[in-house]
Amino acid sequence: MIPITKPLIGEEEAKAAADVIRSGWLTQGPRVTEFEAAFAAVTGASHACAVSNCTTALHLALLAVGVKAGDEVITVSHTFIACANAIRQCNAQPVFIDIEPVGFDMDASLIEAAITPKTSAILCVHQIGMPCDMDAIMAVARAHQLPVVEDAACALGSEMLFESAWRKVGDPAGDVACFSLHPRKVVTVGDGGVLTTRDPSLDARFRLLRQHGMSVPDTVRHGSPQVIFESYESEAFNYRLTDIQAAVGIEQLKRLPEIISRRRALAERYRERLAASVPEVASPSEPNRARSNWQSFAIRLPEFADQRGVMQGMLDRGVSTRRGIMCIHRETPYAGKARFPLPVSEAAQDRTILLPLFPQMTDAEQDQVVSALGEVIRH
Ligand SMILES: *Cc1c(COP(=O)(O)O)cnc(C)c1O
Repeated sequence: MIPITKPLIGEEEAKAAADVIRSGWLTQGPRVTEFEAAFAAVTGASHACAVSNCTTALHLALLAVGVKAGDEVITVSHTFIACANAIRQCNAQPVFIDIEPVGFDMDASLIEAAITPKTSAILCVHQIGMPCDMDAIMAVARAHQLPVVEDAACALGSEMLFESAWRKVGDPAGDVACFSLHPRKVVTVGDGGVLTTRDPSLDARFRLLRQHGMSVPDTVRHGSPQVIFESYESEAFNYRLTDIQAAVGIEQLKRLPEIISRRRALAERYRERLAASVPEVASPSEPNRARSNWQSFAIRLPEFADQRGVMQGMLDRGVSTRRGIMCIHRETPYAGKARFPLPVSEAAQDRTILLPLFPQMTDAEQDQVVSALGEVIRH
């Protein structure tokens, strides 16, 4: 069976986790600080704050840029449901706009028409690792003085062209970028998240909100020769990442260059093989503005092919696939809440499947996926 994904993780991570356990300091200690510095270095961000997962990162990002009860946040429906849930956790409402006809990212030309006096932020998503058109998004955001949160859950290691210069996703074009460290993403610690920003006051806010609003971090109290009493400055949360996870994350970041280059090579190889032997399906491609980490490889099926049937046929041939990205407005908590028609999003969900792609995948396994797909499509 060829799985859809498989984390590249091993003895180095196991040893790093065991070392933390033996050290006796398990959370908000030296490994979290070290991981944050490594993450900032890898993404080119000025500040990186580690939290428990990307959903909590999105929640803190939205709160920190000023989203409050009764507000509206413009986002896409064609994304993981955590985006809308994080907005609702601020007691605000998501306003869904459609995606670009090619690719799976927000259609920036639709933002302006969705802005109302209640709009307090834009939440864009670098979907399955492909960076959004940040020049277009930032032009509208600046014209309306709206903060921008980038959901970069899947986009660690991707690069984007912004204001004519290449930069890593994580050195945000907007105000904050939020990452996930779930096993479905390119590097993992089990569960974890990171917020990156250029703004030191936003970073300070994240640190306060992730740990009960506590004025003095544990590392400072622990290292001080004087007794320090902390205070609690605002209502907040427990969104901490542990040192066990952070130690795993430090090892995972060392593997990132290898992971990205193998993923990019496999994606290019998929594109060549599919064009040659299954021309009925449309492979994804990079727009000029983006270099993807290819967190997922999403192909569009021809009109005559039934999505479920193709997936079942692949499964019967030992290949695991997934349906295209979900549409949030089709799920119960958000049903009937779409203000605008979302035909491109719906078609993308219904006509797309994700093929296996992971760094350990061999060329032979990839050829097996391509030949299974060819058989199923022609069946
Ligand atoms: C995975 C994902 C999330 C949620 O990440 P968690 O770390 O599981 O909370 C949010 N947004 C997008 C686009 C994702 O793919």
